Amino acid sequence: MNHELLYPDLAVNDAGWLTIAGFDTAALAQEFGTPLMLLNEEKIRARCRVYAQTLQTHFPPGSMALYASKALSFKHIYEIAAQEGLGVDVVSPGELYTAYRAGFPMERVYFHGNNKSDEDIAFAISHRVGCIVCDNLDELSAIDVQAGTAGITQDILLRLTPGIDPHTHAKISTGQIDSKFGAAIETGQAEALLCKALSLKNVKVCGVHCHIGSQIFDFTPFCDALTLMLRFLSAMKEKHGYEAERLNLGGGMGVPYVAGDPSIDYAANLLTIAKQLDEQCRAHALTPPALLLEPGRSLVADAGVTLYTVGGVKKIPGFKNYVSVDGGMSDNPRYTLYQSEYTVYLASRMNDVANFRCTVAGRCCESGDLLQEDVLLPEPRRGDLLAVLTTGAYNYSMASNYNRIPRPAVVMLTGEGAKTAVRRESLDDLILNDL
Ligand SMILES: *Cc1c(COP(=O)(O)O)cnc(C)c1O
Repeated sequence: MNHELLYPDLAVNDAGWLTIAGFDTAALAQEFGTPLMLLNEEKIRARCRVYAQTLQTHFPPGSMALYASKALSFKHIYEIAAQEGLGVDVVSPGELYTAYRAGFPMERVYFHGNNKSDEDIAFAISHRVGCIVCDNLDELSAIDVQAGTAGITQDILLRLTPGIDPHTHAKISTGQIDSKFGAAIETGQAEALLCKALSLKNVKVCGVHCHIGSQIFDFTPFCDALTLMLRFLSAMKEKHGYEAERLNLGGGMGVPYVAGDPSIDYAANLLTIAKQLDEQCRAHALTPPALLLEPGRSLVADAGVTLYTVGGVKKIPGFKNYVSVDGGMSDNPRYTLYQSEYTVYLASRMNDVANFRCTVAGRCCESGDLLQEDVLLPEPRRGDLLAVLTTGAYNYSMASNYNRIPRPAVVMLTGEGAKTAVRRESLDDLILNDL
């Protein structure tokens, strides 16, 4: 059977097994065990370069892509981002510390989040984080106090909500006025936050930030956000003489998960934003600010594949068929949370006819622990290998030890071989903090 595979780094070998970046999934499962999180490192690096080079070449000086590391966070991923010339976003002391321990240049770290404690802020400042993205007035005062205590001037961006609905999943839309993130332009709160920030001694307001949502395929919402943010900056220049050095439009660029999802030419879309930035700054007589983007998903999602071993196959006549695997919501909670679509292959028998309609279920004691419903596979047998594609983003980073299930290993597929980046948790790891 001739498969139209979802991505060009996937293929089927002579034995009928799925291969990823030329690596045989049978051999990988044998060597590293399952469930197993695989990442095609070259694919991640290539995507990083598309962002880094386009921003460097076609945007004002200082423009940069920041990897939103909540998508997938472990030491080696920060090494990759550093080597490819990206900055990073962190949203917690844990992510910040991981970047720090990976040797990431701290001046290229942006610290996000809607509720940073005084301790978080002090921790970030003591690690010389480049920029703190300030969410609200309370936090602004706290940053000023902590910077004063440390005897420094802290660079900050102000997080604003331009009021854009990018027509995506409601739970991951954050650009609207009623969002828990940031200060709304429309209500005057953004201006109030800016004025307050400009009056403080220990912070430098480098610019403004917005993030309008996630899994956005059409780049029009980004251009709309750009328009609203520049209109705001133009008004602030006129009213308060404020000029921003940096404009951060956030992340949210989409990735195809299933056949039929549009594929995205990231570079071409970025060029559209570059053109808009240039034209609109000219129209407003603004010096073009450095443009920052925060891709998370679009750097890592489609480089990831999770391998599972099939346990039982249960047929309930007249109802449905279940195929149970050795992972589930503990390593990928996204179907349970959002009914997220995934492409599923029976990796061990890619050439067999996919005519068995089934629900792929995890091993957790939770009826909602499903990885996907209504999937067509060759009828699986116990011991078959199953692959879920596009699991690079928001899988490992959302994984838990629910049911005391150890997190899987993360293995990088590179030109020099398959290398473990995060070892599989052991049963002893699970009781490490139990007294
Ligand atoms: C989540 C998030 C991102 C990354 O979003 P993706 O959809 O993964 O690209 C970027 N910036 C902020 C502020 C975020 O919260």
